[in-house]
Amino acid sequence: MWTHLRALLFPRACIGCNRDDLLLCGECARAAGDSRRVTLAGLEAFSCRPYAGALKAAIAEFKSGRRGFALDLAALASPYVDETVTLVPIPTTRRRIAARGFDQTALVARILARTRRIGVSNVLARAKGAAQQGRSRRERLAAIGRFRVRRTAGPHDPELVLFDDVLTTGATLVDAAHTLETAGFVVAGALTLAWAPDFTS
Ligand SMILES: [Zn+2]
Repeated sequence: MWTHLRALLFPRACIGCNRDDLLLCGECARAAGDSRRVTLAGLEAFSCRPYAGALKAAIAEFKSGRRGFALDLAALASPYVDETVTLVPIPTTRRRIAARGFDQTALVARILARTRRIGVSNVLARAKGAAQQGRSRRERLAAIGRFRVRRTAGPHDPELVLFDDVLTTGATLVDAAHTLETAGFVVAGALTLAWAPDFTS
């Protein structure tokens, strides 16, 4: 409780240990546990740490609107990406973006793009269930699930890696991968900051 209060009162102290000029220090992020690699309906997914301890608290604070956590969460994912990667952030619903003031996954991806010189593609969007006029057949087919594509794949599109904050059931990632693949994109895998402890595959 005091740790939590302290982090709120002194915003540049680690939410886990109160030390450091960080909101989540590397030590506390690592203390959540080891990374994990799973396969979801043929999709290779890599998760940095379990959704536990200080990391869980940090992601919760981040999603409640404290955007400063984005830097330290990007640092957590940083060792697992290189400049050959093009990340596709899983888009947040409009309602949540409005409540929070930002799209948390897109924000972390943009920081990674700056610090690691990776690519970020915002080709994926939330399906609105809106009229389908003016879309190609491929685009309509790709919009069956909770996502849609902003455009279909071109000959020079790189392989894509989905990026999300927490891996829970994996259904979101599978849906997103299916949407992109239907639109002609190649999805090489998925990366998430954390995986929920009750996740089973
Ligand atoms: Zn710490």
